[in-house]
Amino acid sequence: MADVCFQQVCKTYPPRAGGGDQQQPVTVLENLDLQIDDGEFLVLVGPSGCGKSTLLRLLAGLEQPTGGEIFVGGRAVSRVRPSRRDVAMVFQSYALYPHLSVADNIGFGLRRSQRRNPLEHLQDGLHRLCRPLPQALQLPSPREQRIERRIAEVAATLELEPLLARRPKELSGGQKQRVALGRAIAREPAVFLMDEPLSNLDAKLRTGTRSQIVELQRRLGTTTLYVTHDQVEAMTMGHRIAVLNAGRLQQLGTPMELYQWPANLFVAQFIGSPPMNLLPVQLAGGGQLQLGSRRFSPSGPSAEALACWHGAAELTAGLRAEHVRLAPATNRNLAAEVCHVEALGNEQVLTCRLADGDHLVQLRAEPTQQIRPGEHVHLEIEAEGWRLFDAAGQALPRPQREQSRRTGEPSLPPL
Ligand code: ADP
Ligand code: MG
Repeated sequence: MADVCFQQVCKTYPPRAGGGDQQQPVTVLENLDLQIDDGEFLVLVGPSGCGKSTLLRLLAGLEQPTGGEIFVGGRAVSRVRPSRRDVAMVFQSYALYPHLSVADNIGFGLRRSQRRNPLEHLQDGLHRLCRPLPQALQLPSPREQRIERRIAEVAATLELEPLLARRPKELSGGQKQRVALGRAIAREPAVFLMDEPLSNLDAKLRTGTRSQIVELQRRLGTTTLYVTHDQVEAMTMGHRIAVLNAGRLQQLGTPMELYQWPANLFVAQFIGSPPMNLLPVQLAGGGQLQLGSRRFSPSGPSAEALACWHGAAELTAGLRAEHVRLAPATNRNLAAEVCHVEALGNEQVLTCRLADGDHLVQLRAEPTQQIRPGEHVHLEIEAEGWRLFDAAGQALPRPQREQSRRTGEPSLPPL
C-alpha cells in the first residue's frame, strides 16, 4: 500500500519525426500537483487528449516526465524501472499475451518480477515440462508452486477457474478484462492504474464489472487511479474525482463536491448529465440577481459569496436541472416554451427556451407528466440552486468552511 504524489510534473512530447518544419512540441501536462491518499480510489476524467493516459503512463514508467517528480509511498520513482515501481496497469485494450493461457497470463508478472538462480531456473523448467504428466511423475519447484497457488487464488476471486486453460482468443470481452484485472492483482502491487478498462464492454457487462472493480478495490484497499469518460463511473466509483483539462488540474474533490460546487465553468459543464444550465445574469443590488426582466434572491453559500463580491456586475449563473421546476404561471416564475422532451423511463428531461432572453434550460420532470414540445410552461428556480461564476469562468469564492478536504479513512459511496 502506498500514497502517490505528483509534484510539479510536466510532460512535453517532442515533435513527431518526419512531420515537417511546422511540427511543434506538444505540452500535455503543466506543473501538475496531485496527491492520492493511501487506499484511495481516485477517478481521473477529462476530454479526449487532455493527458489522462499520459499521467498513468508517467506513473507506470512507460513515459519519462520532462519536469517534476512522482512519488510512490514517499519514494521518488522517476529513475526507477517500470518493473520495480510496484504499480500494475490495466488497459482498455486488455493487452493480454495471445500465445499464453489465461493461467500464464495471470502469472506473467509474478514470473517476471522474481529473480531466479540457475537451480531455480532448472527446477522451474523441469516442473513445467512435467505439468501434463500424472501427479506422481511431477517434479516439484517451490517457486512455481507458490506462483500456481497465487494464480488459483486470483482465479477464484475473479471467477476465472473454468477458463484457466483457455487462450485469450477463446474469451469474451468481459472475460478478457477479468483476466487483465487478474494479472494486475496477482502481484499485489501498491498501486493499480486503470485506463478506461470498461469502455470496450457492452452496457450490461460494464455495470457488473464496475461493481466488481469497486468491490475488489474496497476489499484489497489498494490505491487506485482510474481513468474514465463515463459519467456514471466517475460519479459512483471513486472517493474523489480529479478533472483534467488542457494540461491542468481543474478540480479535485468528492463526486458530490464537484457536482454541487464546481470550481469553474469547465467542471460545471463536464460533470453531470445533463450538464449544468448556464445563464448570463447581472447583479441587481440587495443580494439579488437579474435574469432578463426578473429578479431572484439566491440563498445559501451563493448568497454569502454574492454579499462579499466586489467584482464586475456581469456574472454567469449555473443551475442544475433539478433546481429548475415546472410551476404555476405567476409573475415570479419564468415563462418558457418546451423545445424537446426526452423520456428516460424514470424521469423526463425537458429542454425549454426562456421567453425572456432566448436561453435554453434543461430540467427534470416526473415521468407521468404529460408534456409536449411547443407547450408554454412556467419555471421556478430553487433559491439554493444558484451557482455563480465570474467573467473568467471561476466560481465565486464561497466562505472557507464550505470547502472540505477528505480526511481519515476513505469512505466508499454505496453501490
Ligand atoms: P487522453 O488519454 O486524455 O485522451 P493522452 O494522454 O493519450 O490523452 O494524450 C494527450 C496528448 O498527447 C494528445 O494530444 C496526444 O496526441 C499526445 N500524445 C500522446 N502520446 C504521444 C506521443 N508518444 N508522442 C507525441 N504526442 C503524444
Ligand atoms: Mg487515453
